[in-house]
Amino acid sequence: MAIRPRIQLLSTGGTISGFGRTATETAYEYGQIDACDLVATVDGLNHIADVQAETLFEVGSENLGPVQWFKLANRIEELTASDEVDGVVVTHGTDTLEEAAFFLDLVCRPKKPVALTAAMRPATALSADGPANLYQAVLAISTLKLQGPEIFVVMNGQVIPGWQVIKTDSVALSSFCAYPGGAVGQIVNSNLLANGGPGSSPIAGQFHDVLRKGLELPNVDIISLRGGCGNRPILSWDGTDCKGLVIAGFGAGTMPDSLATKLAEISQSGCVVVVSSRLSRVIVLSDTMSPGESDEIIPSGFLNPQKSALLLCLALAVGLNGSDIAKLFSNFSSNL
Ligand code: GLU
Repeated sequence: MAIRPRIQLLSTGGTISGFGRTATETAYEYGQIDACDLVATVDGLNHIADVQAETLFEVGSENLGPVQWFKLANRIEELTASDEVDGVVVTHGTDTLEEAAFFLDLVCRPKKPVALTAAMRPATALSADGPANLYQAVLAISTLKLQGPEIFVVMNGQVIPGWQVIKTDSVALSSFCAYPGGAVGQIVNSNLLANGGPGSSPIAGQFHDVLRKGLELPNVDIISLRGGCGNRPILSWDGTDCKGLVIAGFGAGTMPDSLATKLAEISQSGCVVVVSSRLSRVIVLSDTMSPGESDEIIPSGFLNPQKSALLLCLALAVGLNGSDIAKLFSNFSSNL
């Protein structure tokens, strides 16, 4: 690594690049601060790294999807393969940060560390968190402690394995945590205290072919249950173009009996069903969920509905069958 590590910043939009009318407003417009200005606003950043900035998108992450994820993943692969770059930082909206980080973990085989970061408050807000998060993201991958070619999320002083990040709050500053594990590092001032834990998921890079071949991602829906719903959510679901379905069930994967019966029928007609939970810290195992496990009804382990849907999508994209998909998900219920 050069004396001052060379970090490439890829900016995609989100609150971190938003500009509000006043310092006390959370409303703002996206993309008002371009990537270079973002870097210039962070005091001390240039002391720890030589940061080059590039704008990829200027949107809220609710408007990002497979097209943008592929573009981002390809750019990360390209940059981390270059001798000119020691690491990549991605600025992103917070709302779908967990999907982006999990997607990158599953499809990329980066050669250098990658840190995603974001902000809960726009750049113009009192106590904006974006500058500190950006500083810490650059710091995290600029030290010699986190040099693995892995995907991390750095938020609010915590370095979190990308695949484990979950967003827990709508507006709080401390809205991100690692689940089911814990942070692999904490940042105090300009120090990274790393605990040496792995940053990658147990199946990191396993879907590299999806990226290499630009495979199309099939439709997978999520149905979320409410108390007293009976089997209504399934009866009103038009799954004609869906090859996969995720149920955000109750607790550890329970659901009304009438719905469990209907799911068994659906799974026999060629749609792979994953049972997850509407809670934020999910555990669904074969012996905790209501419908019996089969090759086509699979417990999500520690994965929440949105991460389950992403993994199911990738698995279907490469043509895996139900029993192979069940094995894939079992990586997320043990030995982490
Ligand atoms: N909804 C926007 C997004 O995800 C703003 C949320 C944020 O960045 O905090 O990009």
